[in-house]
Amino acid sequence: MCEVLDEANSAILEAVALDATEDLLGTLVGIEKAEDDLVPFELNMFSILRREFRSFARSFLDSKDARDLIGRMADPANHTSLPDLKRQVKRAVLDAFHELAGKKLGEDFADAVGEEVSAVVDGMYEASRSATARRVGIPRDTFTVVDEQSLETLRRHNLFWIRGNYGRNVRDGIDRATAEALQQGLGRKALAEELKRQFAAQFALTDNHWITISSASLNRTRNVAQVRTYELAEVTHYEVIAVLDARTSEICQYMDGRVFSVESAVRVVNELEEAEDPEDVKQVMPWLRWDESRQAPFAVVGGRRTDLPRSGAESARANRSIEKVAPLPPYHGRCRTTTAVSVETVRR
Ligand SMILES: [Zn+2]
Repeated sequence: MCEVLDEANSAILEAVALDATEDLLGTLVGIEKAEDDLVPFELNMFSILRREFRSFARSFLDSKDARDLIGRMADPANHTSLPDLKRQVKRAVLDAFHELAGKKLGEDFADAVGEEVSAVVDGMYEASRSATARRVGIPRDTFTVVDEQSLETLRRHNLFWIRGNYGRNVRDGIDRATAEALQQGLGRKALAEELKRQFAAQFALTDNHWITISSASLNRTRNVAQVRTYELAEVTHYEVIAVLDARTSEICQYMDGRVFSVESAVRVVNELEEAEDPEDVKQVMPWLRWDESRQAPFAVVGGRRTDLPRSGAESARANRSIEKVAPLPPYHGRCRTTTAVSVETVRR
């Protein structure tokens, strides 16, 4: 129990260090999966992202454009004094840095790792497809055009999240690091060195984010592959299966054992294929949050909160309303929940 608490505490500290924003809430709720129990596919994607991002960040900070911008930040001519006499870099100079870093460490980075991470997504899809096919008794190599489309969608969506990594968390961290470095009252050259050092430290903090992205992308890939196999094998119902141990989130304890129709999941997966950007994906497959006082999850879709029935409400109607909002895991960041064919399945 103590270990779980330690882990939760360190995740909270990490999130606070990164300024716990909405994305990190997913990490906080889903303390289910730590770095040391990533499955091989996740570990593979995480290793690629971490290794490549670190090397990208390093060469970015050494590039002429970045060095020029850091030089401008260290130049007193580009500082403003706040009423309390603290110095700050002019917003326009900071924004120029963010714009450049966002492009290099967002778009360019995603382009550079795209092929390698897509290969991992493909591997996960095929492995899940083949294992599920065996379980439902259809040939293992019946890859259809529908699978190809799903896979194409998953690869494309995966790149959204990678591209978006230089988001608010990193930006806020850079702003804070800049303010701290300025307060040290260093000379121009030493200040430029210190800024570079602090920014490198901020980039190293993104590891946590890469774990969440790898875990969520591949959990989604596995579950979509399962749904496509159920559809092909004419399975009608499936069951949500959580890994039950000391780390299982409240959300997944709540979802575990629920039986949903394959039709609902197919509808969600089809809608997912229409999704053009991360916001669309969040609408189609929202992550759940846990309401402690209601003892039930809720989803926020399009700014509107939808509460799921309280624990213990097991009527068919309650189940239908859950199915409508959240038929398919992952339900939160670092979620381990998956699905299996339900005994309620009626073979046509
Ligand atoms: Zn979970």
